[in-house]
Amino acid sequence: MRSRTSSPRDPFASFVLALFVLAAAGCQSTAPAAEGHPRGARAVGEEVGPDDEAGVEVGVEVEDGEEEAGAGMDPNGRSRSAAAAPAGDGTVLASSRGAASAAPPAAQDAAGSLTAAAAAELVAEAEEELLDLVIKAERAAWVQSNFITEDTEILAAEASERLLSAGVRYAQAAARFDDVELPYDLRRKLDLLKLGLTLAAPDDPEKTAELTRIMSQLESTYGKGKYCPEGGECRDLLELERTIAESREPDELLEAWTGWRTISPPMRDPYTRMVELANEGARDLGFADTGAMWRAKYDMPPDEFAAELDRLWGQVRPLYDALHCHVRAKLQETYGEEVVPSGEPIPAHLLGNMWAQSWGNVFELVAPAEADPGYDLTEILKERDVDAVEMVRHGERFFSSLGFEPLPETFWERSLFVKPEDREVVCHASAWDVDQVADLRIKMCIQQTAEDFQTIHHELGHNYYQRAYNELSILYRGSANDGFHEAVGDTIALSVTPPYLVEIGFLDEEPPAEKDVGLLLRDALDKVAFLPFGLLIDQWRWKVFSGEISPEEYNRGWWELRERYQGIAPPVARTEADFDPGAKYHIPGNTPYTRYFLAHILQFQFHRALCEAAGYEGPLNRCTIYGSEEAGRALNEMLEMGQSRPWPDALEAIAGTRRMDATAILDYFAPLQTWLDEQNEGRQCGW
Ligand SMILES: [Zn+2]
Repeated sequence: MRSRTSSPRDPFASFVLALFVLAAAGCQSTAPAAEGHPRGARAVGEEVGPDDEAGVEVGVEVEDGEEEAGAGMDPNGRSRSAAAAPAGDGTVLASSRGAASAAPPAAQDAAGSLTAAAAAELVAEAEEELLDLVIKAERAAWVQSNFITEDTEILAAEASERLLSAGVRYAQAAARFDDVELPYDLRRKLDLLKLGLTLAAPDDPEKTAELTRIMSQLESTYGKGKYCPEGGECRDLLELERTIAESREPDELLEAWTGWRTISPPMRDPYTRMVELANEGARDLGFADTGAMWRAKYDMPPDEFAAELDRLWGQVRPLYDALHCHVRAKLQETYGEEVVPSGEPIPAHLLGNMWAQSWGNVFELVAPAEADPGYDLTEILKERDVDAVEMVRHGERFFSSLGFEPLPETFWERSLFVKPEDREVVCHASAWDVDQVADLRIKMCIQQTAEDFQTIHHELGHNYYQRAYNELSILYRGSANDGFHEAVGDTIALSVTPPYLVEIGFLDEEPPAEKDVGLLLRDALDKVAFLPFGLLIDQWRWKVFSGEISPEEYNRGWWELRERYQGIAPPVARTEADFDPGAKYHIPGNTPYTRYFLAHILQFQFHRALCEAAGYEGPLNRCTIYGSEEAGRALNEMLEMGQSRPWPDALEAIAGTRRMDATAILDYFAPLQTWLDEQNEGRQCGW
């Protein structure tokens, strides 16, 4: 299994919510990590990625490359959910323990005086308190994930709960100023405080408590999920995922696929109730429903944002269709027409991934004979014995070549580069800025592999982003929208190309261009195959929150979207006795998903724009921005804005346009599209 994602740790984007599940899950944080699924642990300091599951192993090298789950506040995943308590009367969230004893924000004391001065006072207080709490939570999280013990987990969970409580209080307080006319910065900061919420609780303490309980219950049902066949041994998600990734036996695959989905039917009723409660809370805050509240985070009217997503999907759809057609034909060669019929959606258990969200694990089944790229970076690293620190130095030199300042000395002193032998650590790669200014660190268990070499460049992308916006208000130190941070890391990783390897002396010469098809196909199986999945998770949830998909048709609605967008189908008949959405972590975990779709679109758009800035002419997949100070300047202009301006401003800074554009993906994969079209000639495509 492969994937080179990782995590950015950025404090504020959705910090408010982020914490809540933590708070809710806090009771579990005391559970021993022995099972390798310390859910409390992720409370602080880890990030949730598109692949992330609750059962992330701790202290164990997870070779399947799931993205690290992260601390509560990261724009790309730390945000979990937080229940917002009723605004207005100074009451506090039932969900956040500790909140009850905390003093209400000053501006709330002066009930009724909703003036610009009161708003400024509130913001100033929030900035000071939240910065302090974030740093404390980060320190606790760092220690926890570098020394996993029962005690460090408790300490980290406590610190994140305190941050959560404060975040919820400030969100409530901020909402009271909705109708007050304010200068730009005050308005934006209050909106950021308020929109940090992922789930809002209704204006009723009992319902708030109920919502909190349900959220915790859903997460825990997922986290503890195991498939226990009659008379057989129970298998957890990691084991089942391994089967899906590696087995080529349809029966085994089918059992692993259906087996994992036995965990989710009990979630259906609580999920239904959660939707009701969260919608009530969203309406209290002035949104039509929770889906509308999520879409409101994108600096444009919610419906306009939804239309933007459709437009982007329409742009890349031809490439996806060609990939789908080829993959289906090759799977049919492997499994036969009985299992993989022509002209039909692909059965979901055959794509190498439990959710059919990325298909890299079936590369060998679909790759061309000439897939060998002509060099092996892993071998090069081993031959030259490039150690972990030197690999990171290469990453630093990449950024230096763009004109960025070197990393601080403390980065080298405090980062974790190699898996220690004497203790348990969280090995998933992540990037930190512990003091929110310049205490940059990465935490990885680096191995001498091409994948880790790329991941290092990705992680450092997060670090340089964090440092670029470190002079802004703490409320602005974050991703322009929640897709940007991850996109930046991946953009840098896209520049790890053969020409770059030649520049740094790893390769004597570039392999011929026809060698690219294998590399491109590998990337497309992960990144292009992911696009419709990245889109449909929230399409389903938006319809669920709006009532367009009713509880009686949760599963049918799910599979309709899976078929329409992805062209996949369940391998066996499903009914409303199943609850298949619940078998994907982000549904019970209440983690918005559109960010991952955006990150996949934006990284190619950034890459193309930076290559243009660098004066590059040639195939986009061969471009590296290494050595281009012009590209560095364009990148930095975007990075240093943090989230102080609406995201189209940030996009314009780097790409000269205010619109997202998926055609960069088509440009990047153009050689692959040509190859796919040749392969698909005479085949019946579509479903
Ligand atoms: Zn990342």
